[in-house]
Amino acid sequence: MSKSTKRSPKENESKQLPIYQHKTKLIQAVRESSFLVVTGETGSGKTTQLPQYLHEAGFCKDGKIGITQPRRVAAITVAQRVAQEMQCTLGRDVGYQVRFDDCTSSDTMVKYMTDGCLLREILADPGLSQYSVVILDEVHERSLNTDILLGLIKKMFSNPAKATKGRSIPLKVVVMSATLETDKLSAFFSNCPVFSIPGRTFPVTCMFGSVVGPKDVESTGYVKEVVKVALDVHTSEMAGDILVFLTGQSEIERACDLLYEKAECIDYRYDVQDQTVEGLLILPLYGSMPTDQQRQIFQPPPPGIRKCVVATNIAATSLTINGIKYIVDSGFVKQLNHNSRVGMDILEVVPISKSEALQRAGRAGRTSAGKCFRIYTKEFWEKCMPEYTVPEIQRTSLTAVVLTLKCLGVHDVIRFPYLDCPEERFILEALKQLYQFDAIDRRGKVTQLGELMVEFPLHPGLTRALLKAASLDCQELLLPVAAMLSVENIFIRPGKPEKQKEADKKHKKLAAKTGGMNDFATLLSVFQSCKSSDRPSAWCKENWIHWRALKSAFSVETQLREILLRLQQKRDFPVEAFDGNRSELLRRCLCTGYFTNVARRSVGKVFCTMDGHGSMVHIHPSSSLFDQEAELNWVIFHDVLVTSRVYIRTVCPIRYEWVKDLLPKLHEVDVYELSSVAREEVTDKEIIKWETREAAKRQPEVSTEEV
Ligand code: ADP
Ligand code: MG
Repeated sequence: MSKSTKRSPKENESKQLPIYQHKTKLIQAVRESSFLVVTGETGSGKTTQLPQYLHEAGFCKDGKIGITQPRRVAAITVAQRVAQEMQCTLGRDVGYQVRFDDCTSSDTMVKYMTDGCLLREILADPGLSQYSVVILDEVHERSLNTDILLGLIKKMFSNPAKATKGRSIPLKVVVMSATLETDKLSAFFSNCPVFSIPGRTFPVTCMFGSVVGPKDVESTGYVKEVVKVALDVHTSEMAGDILVFLTGQSEIERACDLLYEKAECIDYRYDVQDQTVEGLLILPLYGSMPTDQQRQIFQPPPPGIRKCVVATNIAATSLTINGIKYIVDSGFVKQLNHNSRVGMDILEVVPISKSEALQRAGRAGRTSAGKCFRIYTKEFWEKCMPEYTVPEIQRTSLTAVVLTLKCLGVHDVIRFPYLDCPEERFILEALKQLYQFDAIDRRGKVTQLGELMVEFPLHPGLTRALLKAASLDCQELLLPVAAMLSVENIFIRPGKPEKQKEADKKHKKLAAKTGGMNDFATLLSVFQSCKSSDRPSAWCKENWIHWRALKSAFSVETQLREILLRLQQKRDFPVEAFDGNRSELLRRCLCTGYFTNVARRSVGKVFCTMDGHGSMVHIHPSSSLFDQEAELNWVIFHDVLVTSRVYIRTVCPIRYEWVKDLLPKLHEVDVYELSSVAREEVTDKEIIKWETREAAKRQPEVSTEEV
């Protein structure tokens, strides 16, 4: 940190925050107890200030202060802000770490990170010996990883030797939440003290709309309506910034384009109510945006200009934008949910909960009275919106976290101390999948392969395919594919139809380079072509590819390669020979991880999945296999998109014989039997018993015909 005594320009600003008056008492409270729950309205200064207070009070003598965030953008922008306030270079005293992006150094004392990163650190260092304080932030969001961290930390303290190992003072744990469920959190940590920061909030008047009603739950008309309402606010309300809540990047970009177009036509002499308003500054805000653009969000607009931020839910609690007086609420959110219809996790647009709607509205009342314009009707609120948001742990796949828990020695994942228990069937499903990927054995114990798999921050299926490739010495094929599937969409999809045609043509050409029948190979080819190009950014522009996404993919590929190399040097790494056709190698490796995502064509363009759900699916128009269905029989796919139909995306054809021996695994284990595996060890005899029974059951399941 710079040693200058110059006052930070931000210093006065931070003294205005509600938390400032409680500084001494807060520091005291952290000193006095192992666990502390801190609550306060969003924007009171918890995330940016408390770590600084603790740093100043000398808590870093024994280790770092780590602060977790459920969202990567929040971790990055908050770290930037705090580095600025502490007048140091980001990555030195203050740094951040998110998946595939580590901006810390050995000097880093205040470290913001995603909850997923801390979970990985626990794997390597179960006592978190590098930290003096761990702050779990945004706990009210109830993200899957934060929930798991809560349980792990509680468990760590149930064994005091572990919590104090190698330290002079035991680890301090602070749990921060925006007012919700503080009693529950305190009870969870042996009735620890709760520190409430009294908020200052102003009344927010909420108005319901007349357009989006219960029958619109599945329509996408909300973008247009949101734009219309935002423009109405701009022209008919007094000065003050607008915050619009939408669902995701593409909707936000579309809304910004529309807003921009319409705002151009405003005649400020006649059309606006408040004559001091002379223009509109439209700013998008979503997770995968470049950080320099994100920074703009926080800057006050020029005089006379009204700022309108169009954001995802990230602006609901993780980030606070000053100056917001009006909220436009779409009533929807994009959420990862387990879809029982297809048996997979999918990102879907769903109505927000009532508590979420109140939180959104509250963002307008931080500094003065505000207004919230909901585009949905009162009836929509009553009939379509649940009271509370279901915690992620109760609605998504637990495969990756169950593997992490098992690697941490938590064998009984059903009786783990969950703040809210996931449904048992989700745990069973996760165990089943891990068993299918050979990550655990029939007794529920982690295999050697499972220990390798846990090291990769990827979906277990993708990791499995990558490890297969590595054992066949063809990781060069899979590393780029895994990287490309880990970054945001790389294909540009322009809004204008004529541009769209142009982009489609280029994308088709890219696919044709690899024979036009394998979306995974297209990803590999795009990666390689761009990488070997003299002017990669120009290459991207010409081919309608997001250069930023590809740059991330290059970096992700390097990091995955490093993990792989480290494991190959350190551990017993399986080596196999391959006696098939080399040109099939990529697809053969993919089958090892994607046999859970196999579909077989039934009639016409309809495919049927083979995972026991037997869902009817279609190939998505973005796939190079779209319209080629007649030539296909068996395919694997990366993910699904559910609209009125279920679409499979990133697809490639396979031969039945490649998955023939794997498919029975999908039906081999009876989930109820696996539950006893989780609870207590079963004897070999019992295992043989159900294997025989299952073998008998699956006879008619898999036909031996080659299709
Ligand atoms: P809480 O965690 O209690 O919700 P924060 O610490 O996130 O509160 O926010 C405190 C203040 O810091 C807010 O007024 C917010 O606008 C400001 N702030 C946070 N991050 C930034 C940033 N990157 N740039 C400018 N201001 C910021
Ligand atoms: Mg916060």
